[in-house]
Amino acid sequence: MKDWQDRASALYNGEFRPMFIGGKWCESGSGAVIEARNPANGALLATVPRGNARDIDAAVSAARAAFEGPWSKFTPFERQALLLDIAERFEAEWDRLCLSDTLDMGMPIQRTLANRRRVLGMLRFYAGQAVSIHGQTIPNSFPGEIYSSTVREPIGVVGAIIPWNAPIAGSIWKIAPAIATGCTVILKPSEEASLTVLMIARIMQEAGLPDGVLNIVTGLGAEAGAALAEHPGVDKIVFTGSTTTGQAIARAATGNLKRVSLELGGKSPVIVCRDADIEKAVPVAAMAVFANSGQICIAGSRLFVAREIHDEFLRRVADYASNLRIGHGIDTDTDIGPIISARQAERVETYLSVGASEGAKLLTGGSRATGPELSGGHYIQPTVFGGVTDEMRIAREEIFGPVISALPFDSLDEVVTRANATPYGLAAGVFTTHLGTAHKLAHRLRAGSVWVNMYHAIDPAVPFGGVKMSGYGREGGTEHMEEYLDTKAIWINTD
Ligand code: NAD
Repeated sequence: MKDWQDRASALYNGEFRPMFIGGKWCESGSGAVIEARNPANGALLATVPRGNARDIDAAVSAARAAFEGPWSKFTPFERQALLLDIAERFEAEWDRLCLSDTLDMGMPIQRTLANRRRVLGMLRFYAGQAVSIHGQTIPNSFPGEIYSSTVREPIGVVGAIIPWNAPIAGSIWKIAPAIATGCTVILKPSEEASLTVLMIARIMQEAGLPDGVLNIVTGLGAEAGAALAEHPGVDKIVFTGSTTTGQAIARAATGNLKRVSLELGGKSPVIVCRDADIEKAVPVAAMAVFANSGQICIAGSRLFVAREIHDEFLRRVADYASNLRIGHGIDTDTDIGPIISARQAERVETYLSVGASEGAKLLTGGSRATGPELSGGHYIQPTVFGGVTDEMRIAREEIFGPVISALPFDSLDEVVTRANATPYGLAAGVFTTHLGTAHKLAHRLRAGSVWVNMYHAIDPAVPFGGVKMSGYGREGGTEHMEEYLDTKAIWINTD
């Protein structure tokens, strides 16, 4: 931990960090700044510009000029080489990037470091995709020598808006496909976690990404975010965040009918069948919620357990939860880091009271974690509620904190109906040793991803996204490329 602490004090010292527009590092025209504070102890790390609509205008102009200018001359092979070079630079700077994220948004350093394979994999996967974009020659019904074919073209200027809970992976999942397809990007990071995204922009600039291809406008959602979503010069919005904000963005995007993809919230079910391997299922089911202190869109926060094993399973999950180590993300022994902000911690605390007042049985946790080493930060104990019913708010609403709501079930038909009875459809987990049950549940659960005897697996080559109010569009896989491409039909009469 000492080593990380020494490196941390060399990284941020309360200084101003400019944003990035058209290849220039700049302040906001507003002159205002946002403070970036460490959620582990409240220390000021840096300030960043509070970008406004004028800054978004400047970024859109820079992105358009790059899209129509030098960037359009890059061949797919040059874009591929750029992505591979960026991947090398990320590899060299990985520790610094992770440290920045841990300081800025609290994720335990062990967890940020462990994302290496995934993030480098993304950059390299999209490098491969860059040289795999092609159209088709299509037979048609016209007599004579009339040929029809398609070409795939970059959609244009992309506005990307991301939350605070995974700035490295979250931003790369928006930027890498844009580079692969030849789009340009204006990225607005969350006001709660902008610092690592600025570091990423610097790495990409050093790799030779032309000016204007990537622009970072830091700022508030209601100001810079809203201006980006409604800007007539933006062709597409890719958004990750809450369902409420996603709805506002979809409405704002109608002005110029820009395309939208939305990765939104969830209330994902995890189903533990009576034939599950309990020993293996307990830690995975627990960490399906407690990883990143529950601040993950795919958190498996509704834990359905077969009645025959319900009490035993919950006792073990509660034991597991109470042994998790709460602390600063920078401490390599920490399992549960801080909640991002005082406001979010208060929100989670409200749900702890709601659970108790609705009659759920508190099995462990249930309040803030305090102690001299936690002062100045926002920490919530990993919490397990048993005796939860489907109607309770803690079983229906996204909490985005380390809170499990556990519910017993009696039959597979029943649990499928109950698990699907939510407006969300982002992810689901199943624990069973029966192959037939695994297939049956995987097919019947309405979710963008279903994991069996595992959780959290996300890979650049595999599509990820939601159904219902968890959004639309996919990230990852070849489907992702579709989000950044248009199809043009070309007809040629050679008679
Ligand atoms: P949020 O919706 O409050 O903010 C997300 C981003 O949107 C931020 O950059 C914010 O500044 C911006 N924003 C806010 N209001 C805006 C507006 N009116 N117009 C344009 N932009 C606006 O979400 P959050 O609290 O930062 O993150 C938590 C939420 O994100 C949770 O609901 C979680 O489930 C979801 N999430 C989803 C995924 C996924 O892949 N599905 C991943 C991570 C987080």
